[in-house]
Amino acid sequence: MSSNVIITGAGLCGTLLALKLAKRGHYVTLLEKRGDLRKEEMAAGRSINLALSDRGLAALDLVGLKEKALAISIPMLGRMIHTKGGTTTMLQPYSGREGEFIQSISRPGLNALLLDATSAYPSIDVRFQYDVQHADIQQATVKGIDRTTGHPFELKGDILIGTDGAGSEIRQGFMQQGANIRFNYSQQFLDHGYKELEIPAGPGGSWQIEKNALHIWPRQSFMIIALPNLDGSFTVTLFLSFDGQPGFNSLKTDEEILSFFKEYFPNLIPLMPDLVEDFKKHPNGSLGTVKCSPWHTSKTLLMGDAAHAVVPFYGQGMNCSMEDVLILDQILDQSHETWRDAFNQYTSERKKDADAIADLAVGNYFEMRDHVDNPDFMAKRAIEMHLEKKYPDYASKYNLVTFCEHVPYSVAMKKGKAQDKWLLDYCNQNATEDISAEELEKIYNELKKIGELI
Ligand SMILES: Cc1cc2nc3c(=O)[nH]c(=O)nc-3n(C[C@H](O)[C@H](O)[C@H](O)COP(=O)(O)OP(=O)(O)OC[C@H]3O[C@@H](n4cnc5c(N)ncnc54)[C@H](O)[C@@H]3O)c2cc1C
Repeated sequence: MSSNVIITGAGLCGTLLALKLAKRGHYVTLLEKRGDLRKEEMAAGRSINLALSDRGLAALDLVGLKEKALAISIPMLGRMIHTKGGTTTMLQPYSGREGEFIQSISRPGLNALLLDATSAYPSIDVRFQYDVQHADIQQATVKGIDRTTGHPFELKGDILIGTDGAGSEIRQGFMQQGANIRFNYSQQFLDHGYKELEIPAGPGGSWQIEKNALHIWPRQSFMIIALPNLDGSFTVTLFLSFDGQPGFNSLKTDEEILSFFKEYFPNLIPLMPDLVEDFKKHPNGSLGTVKCSPWHTSKTLLMGDAAHAVVPFYGQGMNCSMEDVLILDQILDQSHETWRDAFNQYTSERKKDADAIADLAVGNYFEMRDHVDNPDFMAKRAIEMHLEKKYPDYASKYNLVTFCEHVPYSVAMKKGKAQDKWLLDYCNQNATEDISAEELEKIYNELKKIGELI
């Protein structure tokens, strides 16, 4: 039976969800507080490219957009580490297996692809400039302001789904119910924030550093990463504490900004002619994890960042938010008497996976920042590469999270952590250069046993 579904937030999760629900025969009203990004200049500081991997691609495949997304992506085959001394390591592949790598994709480009696809469905009504300011989560009703006219609106659906991001207004509706629905909520900020900068394209739209890599400048308590864009530029993101030395709050003047880069990132200065101006112009973003439960009432559901915002260090927030749509779709395929039953099953299956990727993402922050250039970590990665090359059924923690879309995040976390612990102990206690085939087989068998226990 067709339902009238209101979805708030035409971002990556909301627009994909609208397409999938329309495909299932429902009528969707998709409300977005911003204007149509296909017609507008993007605000400085919005994260402009993202790492897309197998879970996100599988979700895009649901609506036939996987190949189109790949056509506007740049493969990143591995990490390239830039040391403080100015040397650059060889590309460290993301996997020992062929074809396992991640993609750099423009956020607005992907969002536009999804929005364009809605025009094939007369049953999707996209309303831009619709700012939702209040939700009644028991009645599936939203109120707000149409910013184009300045007039208030009120809409009622059979079902309401909040995909309005980390600061979700629909989640506020859950908060207001408080003890009635025993709503639990936590928001944990990191001490660190982020700022987006740019390495512009070189002559003729060329890439000034290796195009097919995710670049990292790890500096113990802070770091910079850079992801390639199709136009030859790179989006550069500095992750740094707000307080302390160095910290965003102590980088105010041109001299302070320049001397920070001279000391820690000297090889970036010639690549970024507008560094100081961009640094002052672009805002500092904060980074946090949002966990909450329950995600649903009988008529309302939270999905994507609205239900589970994660820090970006596993490159999985968007992938997870789009995978939410895939999981809900699989549940809707099973016969359900009511939306409430489907929402119940969705929450009980999905919550542990969202919690797992949230925790993995915080853990990876410390790994990327402190360990990517640590000898034991590098030895562990080298062994993992050999294992992945030789044994098709072996997958490292990173591989399980990023390339094994059939393995739930919670399983990937448990298995990956146990493997990591064993391998790091091994690297700490053994010489790891020139590992023989027999020794590799022994390692594989040990890790297999660990995996079977999970
Ligand atoms: C610096 C940074 C880097 C990241 N890098 C990656 C990465 O490499 N890979 C990855 O997978 N993830 C990454 N992420 C995470 C990713 O951006 C999010 O997980 C993803 O955007 C979540 O999608 P969403 O649709 O749930 O929410 P959003 O993308 O936030 O979309 C929410 C939409 O709702 C709209 N909205 C908000 N409030 C209202 C309202 N009141 N009324 C109507 N509409 C409203 C917003 O305008 C927006 O369009 C990164 C995040 C950050 C901050």
